[in-house]
Amino acid sequence: MEGTIYKSTGVWYQARSRDGRFWNARAKGKFKIDDISSTNPLAVGDVVDMDVENEGESSAIITAIHDRRNYITRQSPHNKRYHHIIASNLDQLVLIATLREPRTSQGFIDRFLIASEMYGVPARLVFNKADVYRDADMERYEVWSAMYAAIGYPVLLTSVRSGEGLAAIAALLAGKVSLLSGHSGVGKSSLVNHLFPELRLRTGEVSDWSGKGMHTTTFAEMFDLPGGGQIIDTPGVREFGLVDVARHELSHYYPEMRAVLGDCQFNDCLHLEEPGCAVKAGVINGTIAEDRYVSYVNILESLQEKQY
Ligand code: GDP
Ligand code: ZN
Repeated sequence: MEGTIYKSTGVWYQARSRDGRFWNARAKGKFKIDDISSTNPLAVGDVVDMDVENEGESSAIITAIHDRRNYITRQSPHNKRYHHIIASNLDQLVLIATLREPRTSQGFIDRFLIASEMYGVPARLVFNKADVYRDADMERYEVWSAMYAAIGYPVLLTSVRSGEGLAAIAALLAGKVSLLSGHSGVGKSSLVNHLFPELRLRTGEVSDWSGKGMHTTTFAEMFDLPGGGQIIDTPGVREFGLVDVARHELSHYYPEMRAVLGDCQFNDCLHLEEPGCAVKAGVINGTIAEDRYVSYVNILESLQEKQY
């Protein structure tokens, strides 16, 4: 039978079969998938084939994994050359950010967007806690939401406290497999619990969304939304790894820069001091936002050229 991995501990997996039943599954043998070196063979979101091992105990053996549509990783804490796969087969990555209490930095947002470009999963931005934004925060929101929307990242403004934007975020998540990300304290668990109060009941003691309570798992877990769709929680994962970005490739992950790269005089242009740079021309004529260019330069400086 076919199933989807909902939870992975690295030793055993929780998988849901097409009929909605959950199985405690373990993998038989070793899987080598997508030709990547991974420290964990199976991840949340993976579609697998399973054989029933013990019907009464709902135990199953995973015999095969289907090709992944996409996947996201973080750097393995043990070995920088290996990847730890967080989740696969995603429809969207949703970053919950805030402009106050606390302020999410633009660098953090742009790293998240770079990761989404690298993994080929569309990104959406949600700015929560609108109720505490002052005029200057709202001005920043207007500038950033226009800037990000113009380059293909939809932006929402929400407040769990006032209810603003909650219908829009529910619509954003409906029917999709979404990975929610964000610094702790931005209101991720408040949003989820407010939107889907029944989700807690359904998952029982298995889940403590915030990861702060009785259950401090660091394993990713997927939850069914009552109206269809799933969300994936990744406790402890603050940021996806940007390990594989070479400095001269960084601008490929900025859609507005990618669009003009062919016009740079040098094809290995880093868009710093090189003559005939189309990216810098774009910043000067206003087609590329200066804020994005500044974050590009900052992130570029933080990257080490890959060494072999
Ligand atoms: P998480 O760490 O991202 O899961 O954040 P929490 O959901 O635990 O929220 C962190 C704090 O922010 C809590 O004190 C919440 O009550 C508060 N909070 C969450 N959403 C909002 C909001 O929209 N407005 C305001 N003012 N506070 C919020
Ligand atoms: Zn250039």
